[in-house]
Amino acid sequence: MAIMAMENGADKIRINPGNIGGTDKIKAVVDVARERNIPIRVGVNSGSLEKDLIEKYGGVTAEGIVESALDKVKIIEDLGYDNLVVSIKSSDVMMCVKAHELIAKQTNHPLHVGITESGTIFSGSIKSSIGLGLILNQGIGDTIRVSLTDDPVREIEAAKLILKTLGLRKGGIEVVSCPTCGRTRINLIDLAGKVEKMVSGYDLDLKLAVMGCVVNGPGEAKEADLGIAGGDGCGVLIKHGEIIKKVPEEELLDTLRYELDNWNE
Ligand code: SF4
Repeated sequence: MAIMAMENGADKIRINPGNIGGTDKIKAVVDVARERNIPIRVGVNSGSLEKDLIEKYGGVTAEGIVESALDKVKIIEDLGYDNLVVSIKSSDVMMCVKAHELIAKQTNHPLHVGITESGTIFSGSIKSSIGLGLILNQGIGDTIRVSLTDDPVREIEAAKLILKTLGLRKGGIEVVSCPTCGRTRINLIDLAGKVEKMVSGYDLDLKLAVMGCVVNGPGEAKEADLGIAGGDGCGVLIKHGEIIKKVPEEELLDTLRYELDNWNE
């Protein structure tokens, strides 16, 4: 499963219903793709669906999106070229899911999956997680793109986490953290955010727990390889559920960093 950060690179040619023109123009594109031996990406976005398909299906629908994509696929196949990637997208998550379920039964071409125009990092990550989760968990999809109104680096981070959560990608540090409660005596929300940011730079495959208290923290962190649990102005370092040492709150982050820098398990 690959993550596509850049959608329109020189390694493929992109055809969308809104910009293809007639069959002659498609043939011109196919000729260039054949000459350079690069795939053509057939992309349909619900926002640019052809009028006749909107009328046929009584609005923008999953069926219309699929028919639009498969029409172009057939034109290109009839021109004797089958090095294709199909990308059908909608900002309507459930429409996107349905469209992928439909098209997966009708073509064997690779599918590039994503929820388009999904929004900011908060709403976009939720929509992308639900949409991609439902689609990928059915074994549908070959490459993915998470579209966020944010730094593209965050798109990659979100995409990696979606794949890791689905068990489709190994590696990277998974951070688990508690929701805080009346027992929390440290600024756990701030600390968990800093930990998450810090660990993104490590190429380690482990689970790290950031817990709010020493009453339940070590127990809840038992499944993690490494963890910290807050006390009152201090915290403890935990390895495989065992408390290793106590450190002042302001040193918890550095203590974790040291452990990660010297991790050799
Ligand atoms: S680990 Fe402690 S602070 Fe966090 S939710 Fe559980 S009891 Fe509350």
